[in-house]
Amino acid sequence: MNKQKRIEMLSRLRAANPEPTTELEYSSPFELLIAVLLSAQATDVGVNKATKHLFPVARTPQAMLDLGVDGVKHYIKTIGLFNTKAENVIKTCRILVEQHGGEVPENREALEALPGVGRKTANVVLNTAFRWPTIAVDTHIFRVSNRTKLAVGKNVDLVEQKLLKVVPAEFKLDVHHWLILHGRYTCVARKPRCGSCIIEDLCEFKDKTD
Ligand code: SF4
Repeated sequence: MNKQKRIEMLSRLRAANPEPTTELEYSSPFELLIAVLLSAQATDVGVNKATKHLFPVARTPQAMLDLGVDGVKHYIKTIGLFNTKAENVIKTCRILVEQHGGEVPENREALEALPGVGRKTANVVLNTAFRWPTIAVDTHIFRVSNRTKLAVGKNVDLVEQKLLKVVPAEFKLDVHHWLILHGRYTCVARKPRCGSCIIEDLCEFKDKTD
């Protein structure tokens, strides 16, 4: 996709949704971190249902630690992989309390060192909570980037590198959310809704649907 089309594509996504954000519900960087950690292989709706009850009783790393692994499990047992996730939540909270004064560090290396937190989660927290121009590539962004040819790559790391290179600065803060939402609701995995896609004329996917 050439530069002119890229800018037009991102301009349209921006015009349709000028202030995009995550569909995960949170009220602090800590809650966002926990919500993203819980969201691996789970839907945002499912995570929100669990955190609606979990966060009011554990709004800080210390309060979460006080709940303990079993206490956390009680609240998140409707989410996939909840046993491992509960353990990671507690281990992460312990590190936050012992090494970061109970705060979420605004630092990629420190975030990626937390149990259950990989590059994607760190990118989401840095972008959404701290407004860094990072681009977390999940399954939706990977698919949309490759189909449209906005950023072609064989794996998420390559697509992330390409996006960071080709997305103009003015779009970098929000491109993560625009592409996720586009992939979640329009450019869906099985049968993309090309007929109602606002970037259909710019997209370079060969197998568009009606
Ligand atoms: S035209 Fe189709 S394949 Fe291209 S971005 Fe839109 S929904 Fe996805």
